[in-house]
Amino acid sequence: MTRRVYETDSYIREFDTVITATGTDDNGQPYAELEETVFFPEEGGQNADTGTLMIRDTGKSVRVTGGHINGDVIRYTLSEPVARGATVHCVLDWDIRYDRMQNHSGEHILTGVIHNKYGFDNVGFHLSDTGAVTLDLNGVISYEEVIEAERTANAVIYSDLPVSDSYPGKDELKDIDYRSKKEIDGQVRLITIGEGDMTVDVCACCAPHVRRTGEIGIIKVISVINWKGGIRISMLCGRRALEFINREHDILTEAARGLSTEASNVPSRISALIGEVSELKGKLYEALEAEVINRIKSSADDEMRLVFVSGDYPAVVVKDIYNALAERYDGYCGVFAGDDDTGYRYNAGSRGKDSRELGAVLKEKLAARGGGSADMIQGRIEADEETIRRFFREL
Ligand SMILES: [Zn+2]
Repeated sequence: MTRRVYETDSYIREFDTVITATGTDDNGQPYAELEETVFFPEEGGQNADTGTLMIRDTGKSVRVTGGHINGDVIRYTLSEPVARGATVHCVLDWDIRYDRMQNHSGEHILTGVIHNKYGFDNVGFHLSDTGAVTLDLNGVISYEEVIEAERTANAVIYSDLPVSDSYPGKDELKDIDYRSKKEIDGQVRLITIGEGDMTVDVCACCAPHVRRTGEIGIIKVISVINWKGGIRISMLCGRRALEFINREHDILTEAARGLSTEASNVPSRISALIGEVSELKGKLYEALEAEVINRIKSSADDEMRLVFVSGDYPAVVVKDIYNALAERYDGYCGVFAGDDDTGYRYNAGSRGKDSRELGAVLKEKLAARGGGSADMIQGRIEADEETIRRFFREL
């Protein structure tokens, strides 16, 4: 059984201990067990600590790449095998660990604040190292209520309250009101945020935490979505929250500079621009439609039986162009909007024939999709202009 030093002191970054067992896991990775450990294994939604083991006798360093706990046994996967009985100097990857401590303690505070006010529980927790920290609540509150809880949680940070661990006996535990995701056999470890009248949260937890809430720096909610009958909150704390806010701030500043306006005006400027673009697009396609229809009306013989247009032509414009073609020509005609790479949206057919017959052959020979009536068929076709033109020539 490994003595878990990280449980009682999460700030020890370097430590000397002895390798008590070694082996190779199912993936062919060498592993080792330690007499005492500062490396938190993968557990409760949090990834395992990483670091190095320096072998005292040889001075050689081996990377700790993961850790798995099974009952009382913790096995650490290593970059290279080590010898049983060796004394090793352990060094924790502290920046990664401290980031996880800030985020994990912050999660306890936010969940505790919401639990105290609404009675909901955290039924799923994941501390991703690249994305946000997510917590799943078994009840629904609005985004505004989550942001109100975020404000309260940040006030807990400003108060710089102590964070402590305790190991109550079974009888003692019966009288303690604490949050827990599951029934725990054996010794329960409680993490308490605050103390006395200023107790914010008590929760059963196996992970390392910061000593005081002030170390968390900031709790920032990133998003709130509906999730399995409750909500999923994505959040960030500490350094990671600062980096996120900096990134978002840079994006907003750049957008404001591009739009030659203040950051606060960016949303209204974008709405106005979207409106302008949509109006101009309408006018552009109206003009293009008029121009194509004029050419159809004055075209000689079969010159414009097939019309190919590129761009984001609205369906109604494509249909208007088809109607002009169908009036001008007796046989099959069609309009194709798109390009050779992505395919074409089409309206095709003939007033004098049953257009559905054309549809059937198009489907058979060019794998076109769509349908329609005797007057007109419409759909999508994944063929190039040359192939489509040849198809109509050979009809
Ligand atoms: Zn926890």
